[in-house]
Amino acid sequence: MKFELPRLPFEINALEPYISGKTLEYHHKKHYQVYVTNLNKLIKGTKFEDKDFETIIKVAEGPLFNNAALAWSHAFYFSALKPGNNNIIKGPFLDAVKGCFGSARFFKETFAKSTLALLGSGWVWLVLNSKGSMEIINENNAGNPLRRGLTPLLTCDMWEHAYYLDYQNRISDYVEAYWKLIDWELIEKRYNDAR
Ligand code: MN
Repeated sequence: MKFELPRLPFEINALEPYISGKTLEYHHKKHYQVYVTNLNKLIKGTKFEDKDFETIIKVAEGPLFNNAALAWSHAFYFSALKPGNNNIIKGPFLDAVKGCFGSARFFKETFAKSTLALLGSGWVWLVLNSKGSMEIINENNAGNPLRRGLTPLLTCDMWEHAYYLDYQNRISDYVEAYWKLIDWELIEKRYNDAR
C-alpha cells in the first residue's frame, strides 16, 4: 500500500475539552482512513501510481483528486494541532501576520468570518500567494489551494464530521476552540520554508 494513515502526533484525548477523543476517533480513524484507502485503490494501474501527493492534487480529476486532496488536507490539519491552550502567535511570525492583516486580532476575526461564509463542506485556508503575502481563502468539498498555485500554511476542516459531535450547529465555538489548538510554531516554519 502506497499511502498510509499517519498516527496522530498526540493521545486521542489530548485535545479535550476543545476537540473530544470521540470526535478524533471518528474523524481520524474512520473518515480520514476512508480517503487513504480509496486513494490507494484508485491510483492502482493509473499514471499516478508513482506520483506524490502534490502532483496528484494538481493534476488529477474526479474521485482520484477528491480522495488525494482529502487525505493530504487531513494530514495537514491534524499535524498542526497541538494540545493545550497556550498556543499564541509571537515573534517574527506575529510581525508577518501584522504586515498582512493589520493585527493578530483582525487576522483571527477574518479567519472566523471566512468559516461562517463557507456553505456546506469545505476548508478554510491560510495561504501564501506568489507575491509573498498571506491570504485567507475558502475551498468547498475537497478543494485545495495547491491547485491554484498557492502555498497552504494552515487549514481548518469545516466538514461537519470535524465538529458536529462536539459543537452541533455552533460553528463559531468550534472555530474558537480550534484556534486555541493551532501549533503556530509549525505554521511559522511552513511560512519560512515557503518564502
Ligand atoms: Mn475531516
